[in-house]
Amino acid sequence: MKLLTYEVDGKERVGVLSRDEAWVCPISAAGMDYRTMKELIRECGPSELEMLNYISGKDPSEIKGAVPLADVRVLAPVPEPDQDVICLGINYLSHAKEAAKFEKEAFEKPEQAIYFAKRVNRAVDPEGGISAHRDLTSQLDYEAELAVIIKKDAFRISREQVRDYVFGYTVLNDVSAREVQTGHKQWYFGKSLDGFTPMGPWILTADSVEFPPKLAIQSRVNGELRQDSNTELLIHGIEEVICELSSGMTLKSGTIIATGTPSGVGMGFDPPRFLVPGDVVECTIEGIGTLKNTVVE
Ligand code: MG
Repeated sequence: MKLLTYEVDGKERVGVLSRDEAWVCPISAAGMDYRTMKELIRECGPSELEMLNYISGKDPSEIKGAVPLADVRVLAPVPEPDQDVICLGINYLSHAKEAAKFEKEAFEKPEQAIYFAKRVNRAVDPEGGISAHRDLTSQLDYEAELAVIIKKDAFRISREQVRDYVFGYTVLNDVSAREVQTGHKQWYFGKSLDGFTPMGPWILTADSVEFPPKLAIQSRVNGELRQDSNTELLIHGIEEVICELSSGMTLKSGTIIATGTPSGVGMGFDPPRFLVPGDVVECTIEGIGTLKNTVVE
């Protein structure tokens, strides 16, 4: 099942995508009045999810408020996260190698997970613009990533319990300004500029896919395949990461964890191939969907 945030008549709503992905049904059709996805994630129980799943399979003409997908503006599923996104750095071996080469460092497989934060004041719509920030960077880069969304507050949970705490998955482009990222000792600034986090197009609920998910992940720039991998190749997997972080900090409901990117980002090429205004970046994860974002001035 796919849940989305969308705008119709200037109002932000939460809905479920019909199985043929042609229609959006408002959650009000299932008797729910959550105003935001964050509220739905926190409050929605198994029976309500079942009801939404039922609605998604019904004939849309029988559902009050159903609108064709083509007639709505799809927003990021969580347009304004409550907290910074937690990111994994260097979490595919192939990317570890290209990143080491770019930074002229010796390649090392990270034994410990590399965590960093990404400020997201407002996530970019699945088809919105990536801000070029040309005054700050000439090394604008893309990173297709699987993002995990936490359902309920997680503290000191075991690896076996992790799956019960995952609400679902979405696609996230961890847009990066490389010289800003590496020029400072911490990556925070170079990862957190406004317009640097396309997310969506929706949330694939956890019950719709095996755990942990093994899904093809790809990116394209102007139609050319750049990244092509599988989420089963994470060095530090979802169970390990959530178990480790929760051992000392509460991962609150709605927390978004971006699990890292495979090789094929712009800095991995020789010479590097960074983004410029007008470039179209597509990030796709099998079974979830595609982000298609144009770089804008
Ligand atoms: Mg990343």
